[in-house]
Amino acid sequence: MMRYLMVILLLGPATCCLATPTIREEPMHKLPKPHYQRSDSDPDWLAYAAQFHGHLGPWAAAGLRAGMTARRAVDADGYFDVDVTVEGPFVKPPRSCFLDGLQVSTGATLGKRNLKWVKAEQVIVRIENTRSGKTAEVRPTPALLKLLASIQSRPKATRGKDASERDQHDDHDDHEDHGPQSDFLEAVARKIAAIPDKKILHVTFPTSGE
Ligand SMILES: [Zn+2]
Repeated sequence: MMRYLMVILLLGPATCCLATPTIREEPMHKLPKPHYQRSDSDPDWLAYAAQFHGHLGPWAAAGLRAGMTARRAVDADGYFDVDVTVEGPFVKPPRSCFLDGLQVSTGATLGKRNLKWVKAEQVIVRIENTRSGKTAEVRPTPALLKLLASIQSRPKATRGKDASERDQHDDHDDHEDHGPQSDFLEAVARKIAAIPDKKILHVTFPTSGE
């Protein structure tokens, strides 16, 4: 009897501590507010990516599309069955925004260490399905590169409100714009999000040993 009571006394607090705690909505527990207004035509994945990245930009949209195509090419579910190595000129925004889109759509992330970036001139997404060993490479087509290049060399008057001020403090040498919310950048991003795969991405399946 005494032993039985001891078990109850010992297990009682443990059981109580293992119960699922109620997570209260505290005013300070909030995700950051992105520079983005969802349009009715935006699919969930685009809105989710904007929440993650902070705005809707062409390079992030390109990364999203490339990652979705890559994941599908190797029949991966994403997150835990993929290994992604991406090559590209992603030294700083807006080009490096590609990496955020890619993380959202492949589920390979910096935190899980299954996403690696290699600095290069050309963009190539190499993906491996770690369950099956199937690999694929995804490259942007000239049409996608043209869309991405269209955000360069715009007159300052048509760029973000504070673009000229930012240029004075930023060493962007490519004159590409990046956040905050800009109708022009969002329009290009939505265009990239909506174009059929084959027009903007080229998929190849390298044979092992190459
Ligand atoms: Zn961005």
